[in-house]
Amino acid sequence: MRLPLRPEFVGQEPYGAPQLDVPVVLNTNENPHEPAPEVIADIAQRVAEAAASLNRYPDREAEALRADLAAYLNAESGVDLDASRVWAANGSNEVMAQVLTAFAGPGRTVLTFTPSYSMYPEYARNVYGDFVAIARDEDFSIRVDDVPLQLGEHRPAVVLLASPNNPTGTALGIKDLRVILEASRTTGPSDDGRPAATIVVVDEAYGEFRRDGVPSALELLDEFDNLIVTRTMSKAFGAAGLRLGYMAASREVVDMIRIIRLPYHLSAVSQAAARAALAHRDSLMEQVDQIRRDRDALTEELSSLGYRVAPSDANFLMFGTFEDRHGLWQRLLDRGVLIREVGPAGWLRVSIGKPHENAAFVEALKEAR
Ligand SMILES: *Cc1c(COP(=O)(O)O)cnc(C)c1O
Repeated sequence: MRLPLRPEFVGQEPYGAPQLDVPVVLNTNENPHEPAPEVIADIAQRVAEAAASLNRYPDREAEALRADLAAYLNAESGVDLDASRVWAANGSNEVMAQVLTAFAGPGRTVLTFTPSYSMYPEYARNVYGDFVAIARDEDFSIRVDDVPLQLGEHRPAVVLLASPNNPTGTALGIKDLRVILEASRTTGPSDDGRPAATIVVVDEAYGEFRRDGVPSALELLDEFDNLIVTRTMSKAFGAAGLRLGYMAASREVVDMIRIIRLPYHLSAVSQAAARAALAHRDSLMEQVDQIRRDRDALTEELSSLGYRVAPSDANFLMFGTFEDRHGLWQRLLDRGVLIREVGPAGWLRVSIGKPHENAAFVEALKEAR
């Protein structure tokens, strides 16, 4: 029997970094620090409370969680939002899938600037959308002066901007973002002859790791109704296993996403666990500070070994360049250190681990190179 898989999926492999059992795992940009005992205890207690009513469907709108997330964003970046402008789902990957379901699709274009997150073309493919990739400059910045013309030419329904970008670690400046947003007011699809805006998604999965003085795109939300800022608890928050991502946007955009979300998409257990973790944001943010310091130290160390290191506002570094990056990646793995072979040719990406893991990586690198 031949099964009727959509033709564009035939022969494709599921996405995913290798999950190998080695001593030093620095390949998926997780927070390396396990949750503290008091965080674990609180999560367990809140989940037990939620379990008492698991016979009922969860709060479909996740009102309490969205209010907690709004409060967190306010504490983290000083931007004042209420729950109606925040939306949550199972990881920011699901948020992104929802955004594209609502705004992209057949005959519509999703545009990004590469190298960037390797899931973006797959999101577009899944909704039958077209995908346009525009190359970044040598230093991985976006040539913003060209963007208004490019938007006019491609008329994308959605632009995806990862900032800090994965795999390069580089952030988009707020001035540059403003240029893109100004241009995007009328560059979207015009099905009925009237020009619509392009939805601009700034994917801030690594937002909390940005260096001092680098603003969040959240600061522009009040000026642009077509701006969506996505965040996740998978990276800075040390809760990749929880699967909790979210976005902040105009109320209008959130209400449009609510039309297409599956009913009860976010389980009562996820909502309870996320709220428990959010209550510990202060101690989690101390971990983030430690990771940022370790990142800056590793940047200096790699530079002093003679490597090029892209300036990182994230919890990973892209470094290079290598004639045979696969060979080096393998020799590091042979020494028990798993990093990621990803991004432009000749570069490798390493996540910031615990101090002893970062040291093990540097030692292995000195041997392996
Ligand atoms: C890790 C990552 C995400 C996070 O995805 P989740 O589904 O929230 O775990 C989103 N965007 C980028 C660019 C990432 O690197």
